Amino acid sequence: MFRAILFDLDNTLFDRQAAFRLYANDFCRRRLHLPPLEQEQALHDLIAADDWGYRPRVEFCEWVSRRFPAAELQAGEIWEDFCQHLPTFVEPDSRVQEMLARLADRFQLIALTNGSGRNQQEKLRRARLGDYLQKAIVSGEVGFEKPHREIFEHALSVAGCSADEALVVGDDPRADIVGAKQAGLKACWVSLGRCYPAGMIQPDEVLFSVLDLERWLA
Ligand SMILES: [Mg+2]
Repeated sequence: MFRAILFDLDNTLFDRQAAFRLYANDFCRRRLHLPPLEQEQALHDLIAADDWGYRPRVEFCEWVSRRFPAAELQAGEIWEDFCQHLPTFVEPDSRVQEMLARLADRFQLIALTNGSGRNQQEKLRRARLGDYLQKAIVSGEVGFEKPHREIFEHALSVAGCSADEALVVGDDPRADIVGAKQAGLKACWVSLGRCYPAGMIQPDEVLFSVLDLERWLA
């Protein structure tokens, strides 16, 4: 029986992919001023390079700086732009909020997310999830990140439960699922319609969306 659920944030509790698309569009409009066809290609390239946010941010920002010299931005300035603007495109989802409100009667609900404190706290605020989660553990604030065992052990100590009493729910096969399983926790993968990578440690369950979690827990 689970006592705690550790939720990833981006593309698990809110649609980070939609927010990134809007951000990329806004970035092109503000910084590149391209004709429509080139803008289309730039958007496509930005979304591919971002790789659902899985690509390390330093690498991503360096790539943007090289790919779009017309923006006249160094990687550090692109990171600033990203931190300042991306969270503003995160939208709350009332269906997720309602599900969390119901689950909170049965489980401790904790966010377990990779990223900078500034970025992730702002996204939490924009997604209006603060009232539904007991605590948010952000890798940039604790000094370890998923998939490393230390951050899962830290989360278990915050939750005050053992590995077999906690469930991890996330969309990133490597950070969320492999990390959780290697730390001895059960894990549900949020597929969003994607196929699970071959050769990786398998999740205990595949959910299309986080909204399918309640049915699986019932
Ligand atoms: Mg995620």
